[in-house]
Amino acid sequence: MKNVAIIGAGTMGNGIAHTFAQKDFKVQLIDISQDSLDRGMATIAKNLDRMVAKERISEADKTSTLANISTFTTITEGVANASLVIEAATENLDLKLKIFKELDAVCSANTILATNTSSISITEIAAATSRPEMVIGMHFMNPVPIMKLVEIIKGYSTSDATYKTVAELSTALGKVPVEVNDYPGFVANRILMPMINEAVETLYNGVAGVKEIDTVMMLGMAHPMGPLALADFIGLDVCLSILHVMYDGFKNPKYAPCPLLVNMVMAGKLGSKSGEGFYDYSQNRKAEVVSGQFL
Ligand code: NAD
Repeated sequence: MKNVAIIGAGTMGNGIAHTFAQKDFKVQLIDISQDSLDRGMATIAKNLDRMVAKERISEADKTSTLANISTFTTITEGVANASLVIEAATENLDLKLKIFKELDAVCSANTILATNTSSISITEIAAATSRPEMVIGMHFMNPVPIMKLVEIIKGYSTSDATYKTVAELSTALGKVPVEVNDYPGFVANRILMPMINEAVETLYNGVAGVKEIDTVMMLGMAHPMGPLALADFIGLDVCLSILHVMYDGFKNPKYAPCPLLVNMVMAGKLGSKSGEGFYDYSQNRKAEVVSGQFL
């Protein structure tokens, strides 16, 4: 497998493209927006520069990595020759169903179709195609070039052969694949999101402040980031939507989002991307606690 197409050049798509290209795969990066493609390529170049500065790769490695990536604005052109397509477009069910129908129509019969979705059912996406046994979840973590884990999610109909190919490929990328079945939240978010939600609930109940909650989890549990800072980094809207998926999927009140999280999303306080969440990012990315307005 040498040719890989990636759909979406945003946060995850450009990280996935970078990771494959650095391992000498030919990457076809596709986005409907030329602007996103330009920004994605600029991000990859900047991240490679940082690796060169840290002497983790050479200038020649940077040049060859960039040369391995070509960009496209249409799926039909972009997926030609690809043995694997990884979809990392915006998290929206209708959009993903539409993309997978198109991929199924234009890709060769032996192309594996993967999605990087955080929360949408792999089984439902696979059912939109005529090859559900060749559809699989490849859930990379952000930032992709650095994080080692790939959750590999088998949909109801995903074949063992598809799993084996994708797991071996992940290992070849220098990642660690973990096999997971297709239930809401998979494993990573099923465990992470209730922890984040409980941290918000702890704040909402006035048990402790933002910094105190994060400090307990960092210094007491050896987490590199506190749960509230992590929620800001992920995006509070993303956390809320994943909790909704688990709440709807399991019908279990333990996944009900904290009203404070709901309010903050409604107020447009989405975390670092909006300039404010539990911390204030208006001055710099290393944030100060927003003064006690939640309690
Ligand atoms: P993003 O908003 O940064 O990027 C999405 C990109 O998709 C945009 O560039 C957009 O132009 C493009 N796009 C939209 N419609 C398209 C179409 N029809 N064809 C081609 N491109 C299209 O989003 P992201 O954070 O990179 O998330 C992408 C996927 O990865 C989502 O499914 C998300 O759940 C998943 N994910 C995100 C994270 C994370 O931390 N951001 C982590 C794991 C998984």
